[in-house]
Amino acid sequence: MTAGTRTALVTGGSRGIGRAVVERFLADGYDVGYCHRTPFAGAAELEELAEKHGVRVHGAVVDVTDQATVCAWLEETEERLGALDALVTNAGIIRDMPLAVMDREHWDAVVDTNLTGTFTVCRAAIMAMMRRRRGAIVNVSSVAGLRGNASQTNYAASKAGIVGFSKSLAKEVARFGIRANVVAPGLIETDMTAGLDKKAHRRIVAGIPLRRIGTADEVADAVAFLASDRAAYITGQVIQIDGGIGI
Ligand code: NAP
Repeated sequence: MTAGTRTALVTGGSRGIGRAVVERFLADGYDVGYCHRTPFAGAAELEELAEKHGVRVHGAVVDVTDQATVCAWLEETEERLGALDALVTNAGIIRDMPLAVMDREHWDAVVDTNLTGTFTVCRAAIMAMMRRRRGAIVNVSSVAGLRGNASQTNYAASKAGIVGFSKSLAKEVARFGIRANVVAPGLIETDMTAGLDKKAHRRIVAGIPLRRIGTADEVADAVAFLASDRAAYITGQVIQIDGGIGI
């Protein structure tokens, strides 16, 4: 198999937004490493897609909350596919409930995966990027992290944390030629939002200026832009992909 011109790593690449980002990077000529927490039946499909684009793809079961596994995965991916040009921390979960009934377990699960997972993956990648003096990081937040959302204190806190983390990282590593940006999607059609009942769906759509929910591909477009040299002078920014809900 031929090699791509660049290498990207995507967490949570098996479904939803992460999967769309993997597919977009493959189409853009990247070799792509991606991970997921549970076994994934679609790996062969992604391999076929990679072959079609003349690039390589490698999936792995990696829990982003497990620092040792993350470090080993990064090392293995760089050995297999080459030094990372782009890193996308997308793995995320929700455990929605009002604070009044939220257990510590529901708080920890969301913060550990979304925020500490982002720290763990960026921490594992950053030294090598600094040595090479190049790299583009895109962390996936949410409009919930910017505006808050009832029954999502855990999720919104984790996603707001990603914004502060990424802005600080952007300032810290700019002198090494590394950029760090954030995408903050609004409501996007994926498994994460599939559980919304019709009434809630209608109410949310009515509040979105563009009057529809977004697609994973629309988020992937913004991620691919921020990871590319077309965004060479953009760092520390939060791009909302939300149909105008954040206006
Ligand atoms: P999704 O369809 O539920 O997919 C989540 C992905 O993350 C899956 O690949 C999942 O792997 C992986 N993942 C979860 N926990 C993980 C862990 N501990 N270690 C490694 N991988 C893990 O979610 P999505 O809707 O595409 O959301 C992707 C990101 O966008 C999340 O950070 C989410 O918060 C954010 N976002 C989504 C929306 C939306 O409306 N959908 C809006 C704003 C922000 P498994 O398949 O193995 O579980």
